[in-house]
Amino acid sequence: MEPLIPPITDIAVVGGGIVGASIAWHLAARNIAVTVFERGTIASGASGRTGALLRQHYSNRPEATLAHESLKVFRDWPEIVGGAPVHHPTGLVLTLAAGPHADANVARLRRNVAMQNGVGIASEAITPDRLRDLQPFVRVDDLAAAAYEPTSGYADAVAATRGMARAAARAGARIVEGCPVLALTAQGDRVTGVVTPSGPVRAGVVVCAAGPWSTALLGAIGVSLPVAALRVQIAILHRPLAFDAPHFVYLDTAAGMFCRPYGPGCSLVGVSGGDQHDHVPVDPDRYEQRVDAEYPGRAISAIARRIPGMTGAAFLNGRAGLYDMTPDAHPIIGPGPLDGLYLACGFSGAGFKKGPAVGRLMADTIVDNRCDWLDPAPFRLDRFQADGWQRPWSENEYVFETDFGHGF
Ligand SMILES: Cc1cc2nc3c(=O)[nH]c(=O)nc-3n(C[C@H](O)[C@H](O)[C@H](O)COP(=O)(O)OP(=O)(O)OC[C@H]3O[C@@H](n4cnc5c(N)ncnc54)[C@H](O)[C@@H]3O)c2cc1C
Repeated sequence: MEPLIPPITDIAVVGGGIVGASIAWHLAARNIAVTVFERGTIASGASGRTGALLRQHYSNRPEATLAHESLKVFRDWPEIVGGAPVHHPTGLVLTLAAGPHADANVARLRRNVAMQNGVGIASEAITPDRLRDLQPFVRVDDLAAAAYEPTSGYADAVAATRGMARAAARAGARIVEGCPVLALTAQGDRVTGVVTPSGPVRAGVVVCAAGPWSTALLGAIGVSLPVAALRVQIAILHRPLAFDAPHFVYLDTAAGMFCRPYGPGCSLVGVSGGDQHDHVPVDPDRYEQRVDAEYPGRAISAIARRIPGMTGAAFLNGRAGLYDMTPDAHPIIGPGPLDGLYLACGFSGAGFKKGPAVGRLMADTIVDNRCDWLDPAPFRLDRFQADGWQRPWSENEYVFETDFGHGF
């Protein structure tokens, strides 16, 4: 990768996660001089600490579309992006609990699956018995229904993010690691570039894709961004030898956990509640990156509720990362309040799966000032100034007892 920092670039992208890398790739493919500034290494933020579950199940069309368009890229990665495959199409299930909200949630699930099918997503509503036919080792007596996506799964997150950055570089983007953007610069109502430790870099357009760090960067130029850092943990568990069946990816709203296979013999688990439930923001530069002492036990109990064969699982390792939460748990993608400023942040714990399509959307927005495959209006920052921004994005949003921190 070219390490030199140019004094001028058409477009400066702040942040080298999946989103910044994807934006750079799409812009460079249009022959635009784009430079990505990453203060650490590519994928050193949430994109390197994520679960990377590639769920397409959403109750609103805009996010389902981003997830679906992205899955096409993850699925055909070697042909589209280049390099080794990154997608594991294990199959994915979203569960709904039996109990007080079951009937209404099951009706919503059926409508959501119909909407998703209309977007092109392979998904079907299934009964608990059907789930047990598919995965005979799971417990289903606490379930009302599930959505099954046979072609979804999970991605190798670091490989994908680095691969995307490499593809951007091959297309002509400059990727500068170890280079923090110290400040954005503006003149009047226009951004004019960024400041790095090596000096100022002029840019006609600046894209802020710096996750939860975006808030301070933008605040310093008077742009108020409602994005807070939320600490979230995951654990990697060794499976007992007696349970070695390949399991789906689960978004288990009944057991309050998500899980996916993690290499041969291991599973990755995240448990809802805890930090997510309390929604206490942390300082993104000073948060505990190790898991809490009691977290492995919680993770084993949660996955064992769905897969009893995991009861004897052992903790291998774990980590905490950050969700960049917006007040409505939907991302901010689009123009900012200054000319030349664009935002791609606030993914609220669900941005990895959308990364490839967000890059395309951002390139369409910046270069063409329009997008003909998705209405980008719902994602704009200025939605928070409109009356009623708290309203759900669709009438089919679920009501859950558990809180994953992000929306469905
Ligand atoms: C534990 C966990 C589990 C998750 N599970 C899933 C999941 O299953 N599926 C899913 O879709 N999403 C999931 N997510 C969310 C997903 O990982 C994120 O939404 C996504 O990775 C965000 O990508 P990004 O590029 O916007 O941000 P990041 O990957 O955080 O990238 C931002 C980058 O900006 C850099 N940066 C910050 N400030 C500066 C600066 N001043 N100058 C230069 N660089 C700067 C950072 O170093 C960082 O590399 C999970 C997140 C976590 C933490």
